[in-house]
Formats: sequence, structure tokens, C-alpha cells
Amino acid sequence: MPLPADYHMHTPLCRHAKGEPTEYAARAIKAGVPEIGFSDHSPMREDDFDEWRMRASELTEYAGKVEQARLDHPDLPIRFGLEVDFLPGQEPWIREMADLHDWDYFIGSVHYVGDWVIDNPTTLNRWRDRDTIEVWSAYFKNLTDAAATGLFQIIGHADLPKKFGFVPDEDCTPLYRNFLTACADTETCVELNTAGLRKECTEIYPHPNILKLARQLGVQITFGSDAHAPHEVGADLDQAVTLARECDYETCCRFEKRQKSVIAI
Ligand code: ZN
Ligand code: FE
Ligand code: FE
Ligand code: ZN
Repeated sequence: MPLPADYHMHTPLCRHAKGEPTEYAARAIKAGVPEIGFSDHSPMREDDFDEWRMRASELTEYAGKVEQARLDHPDLPIRFGLEVDFLPGQEPWIREMADLHDWDYFIGSVHYVGDWVIDNPTTLNRWRDRDTIEVWSAYFKNLTDAAATGLFQIIGHADLPKKFGFVPDEDCTPLYRNFLTACADTETCVELNTAGLRKECTEIYPHPNILKLARQLGVQITFGSDAHAPHEVGADLDQAVTLARECDYETCCRFEKRQKSVIAI
């Protein structure tokens, strides 16, 4: 099947990914991915915020690496974006970053609940110490607020809390509905992210129940491998397209300078 654009990939600037953007681009061409976009972990205003993102002073270097990939692979459309961490109160900083470069899109992602990075394997114990539903509720509250800002073209890995298999017994439909209503209101896309297949949960983010509800509410989609190394570019995007179609999607979105266009899948 023809693969969609892969809009979620990282660079070594975030300190936990390998390979230069030009190598990711070369791999995309080999794997038959028709378009890619870089979305490395955005800087925070404070460079010592945490250890897994680029520094604010490195944004220019990031732009240069992506530009090099474009020069080396002129026939591959290469988009320039960021995976922006949404935490309450970050909106002014996100607006400042948006003005710094000619971005094609921002992926808004939530990794933090309070001061805890919920997908960090070294803090797995905190999952055991807390009520799963309480963490999911807090997570989806942040995600809903992120979508409601309208600052993001795409929301990344919407049910990331399932990563290690901590899934609540309770019905989460109300959490999903609040979140997806905010996406619909702001015309923010939801990303099908295949990294979940490579984690303990062994599922694409988000779950089919979320995608089906998204489809009902008129929320559009994009695709991403969340590659942290060149060999992961385009990983399992065929499975993600199959899932999207099973959830009644017939189109996905592309972004150029934050302008959306719709293409068939
Ligand atoms: Zn990462
Ligand atoms: Fe992420
Ligand atoms: Fe990512
Ligand atoms: Zn990510």
C-alpha cells in the first residue's frame, strides 16, 4: 500500500536519538515514505528544564540539519516541525518559538503530569504508587488543554499513558470525548503514532476506541513513526493506515507552513 507522510522523527539534538536528518531522509526514500517531517523535542525557556531536549540556542543548528537533508534529497518533501511539550503555563513560550522559524507544524505532546515524566522507564515505580485512573485523568486534562490552545496542528501519541501497560479498568470515554471535542473545535489533528508497537503496550497510539470517536467528531489525522534512529523511519506505517481505515478514515492531513491540506489514504 502507498505509505503516508511520516511526520514524527527526532534528531541527536534531543540527546537520546541517533542519526543525522539526512540519514533519516535517505532511509525514507528506501522505505517508500513519500514525505517526512522532523519534530524533535522542543527546547524549554530554561535550558536546564530536563535532559532530553535541545537547548534554545540549538534551534538554528536544528534548522540547518533539516536544510542539509533537503539539499541532499531534493526530491523528497521534508517538513520542519517540533514536538512541543505542553505543560500548563507554557503558552507564551510556545508562541515565541512559533515566531522564530518558518515551521510547517507543531506536534503538541504531553509527557509530564506535574513534575513526573510518565513515559520515562526509570520512574516506572511511580505508576505502581498511584491510581492509574487518576494519572490518566490528569494526563487527558493536560492533553485537552493542549488541544484547546489551538497552538498545535497535531496532538502526538494521545494515549501515551498506556505505554507500560497501566490501563485503567474504568471507562475512559468521557476523558476521550473532552479531548477530542477540543481537537474538533480547534481543527487540531490526532496523530497515529507507531512507537507504541515498539513498547510494552505493543499498540499503536491511540487506541481504536479513541480513533473511532475522533472520526465521529470530525477530527482529522496524521501519521508518525516517532523515529529516534534512521532505521525506524516509516516503521509500521502500513499497519497504522490499516487501523485508520478500520476506523472509517479515508483521508489524512499534510502541513506546509502550518497550512493544512487533505489527501486520500
Ligand atoms: Zn524522544
Ligand atoms: Fe513524545
Ligand atoms: Fe517523539
Ligand atoms: Zn514523541
